[in-house]
Amino acid sequence: MLPVGFECEETPILNTELLGLDRTEMAAFLAQYQEPAFRAKQVFRACYKRQVRTLDEIHELPKTLRSVISETACVDNLSLTQIFESTDGTRRYLFKLKSGEAVEAVWIPEPERSTICISSQAGCPLGCEFCLTAQLGLKRNLTPGEIVGQIVTVLRDERDRQRLEGELNPALPSINLVLMGMGEPLLNFNYVMKAIRLIADPEGLDIRPRHVTLSTAGVVPRIYDLGKEAIRPHLAVSLSAPNDELRDRLMPINRRWPLAELIQACLDFPLAASERITFEYVLLDGVNDRDEHAHQILKLTAPLRARDAVKINLIPHNPAPGLPFQPSVEDRIQSFQNILKGKRLPTFVRRPRGRDITAACGQLAATL
Ligand code: SAH
Repeated sequence: MLPVGFECEETPILNTELLGLDRTEMAAFLAQYQEPAFRAKQVFRACYKRQVRTLDEIHELPKTLRSVISETACVDNLSLTQIFESTDGTRRYLFKLKSGEAVEAVWIPEPERSTICISSQAGCPLGCEFCLTAQLGLKRNLTPGEIVGQIVTVLRDERDRQRLEGELNPALPSINLVLMGMGEPLLNFNYVMKAIRLIADPEGLDIRPRHVTLSTAGVVPRIYDLGKEAIRPHLAVSLSAPNDELRDRLMPINRRWPLAELIQACLDFPLAASERITFEYVLLDGVNDRDEHAHQILKLTAPLRARDAVKINLIPHNPAPGLPFQPSVEDRIQSFQNILKGKRLPTFVRRPRGRDITAACGQLAATL
């Protein structure tokens, strides 16, 4: 029994990480200090809009309050270990989690709207043959704070760089967010969805779901769950093989949820007007890049194409030591694309970014 007057709520939660708290949770956290409601809003904005590093940088708060809060809480939950810079401007961020594992995020600058690629798990359990992350196996799911923390750290770094270049008031850049780093986001469904809702908050990062794409290797039941979410990102599906025989071999998840079930889930996915599901297809030299494979894709996607519900991104394989594949040659990529485009399937070739710093698709295999 607790002595009278000793209520648990009065005991501050130890080691609270502010990144990852949504507005309601932030309000509950600050309520412990008997602070008025506007304080929570100030802290929320400072963490997400200004991307402060420490509580001390939240000047809006009285100094005494800052020091009381910092006895039990901190802003950051990830430690940034290293930044690798590519000749093409892409940057790879290597983080260490508090539990010791490594994860990575990638910044891909673009003139109009830059892309941040983030991880949803440390490692990945799916074992796709052509992906380096697969070789790590699954370490663990990331928390909402660790997912959001990657974005905040990348943006903070970008802002610092702009300041160094003389920009006095760097604006938050326009962002596309892709959940295409390490891990299978649909196997960390609840935390990923919480992170997506949190980053959409206009008082915070303000990255709306229409600028967010979640890529799955095909966790069919969770595709149905995603379709039911009120606030949801765009859906991308990693296809990479147009028949079960080949897909079973390249992507073991296909043995659990074969192509017919995956395509049905895509057909049942409620799309907004003019929204399409993106199919990603890693082109592996001599393995899945023959004309017959392109024709099989057309057949497989026929019901989706009939509804203008699909487009396809061809990703030339990014080779890495230990991966038994080579990228398709340029002529082959062109012919493959032409067959698909010939049947009015919107088809794009994704040029690799950041290959020289192993930041490209399938090359994330962080080691500390
Ligand atoms: N698990 C999810 C999220 C990871 S996205 C998924 O599979 O969709 C990573 C993307 O990179 C996937 O589309 C995957 O097919 C692709 N990819 C993996 N290894 C690759 C490689 N070596 N070269 C090019 N693309 C690769």
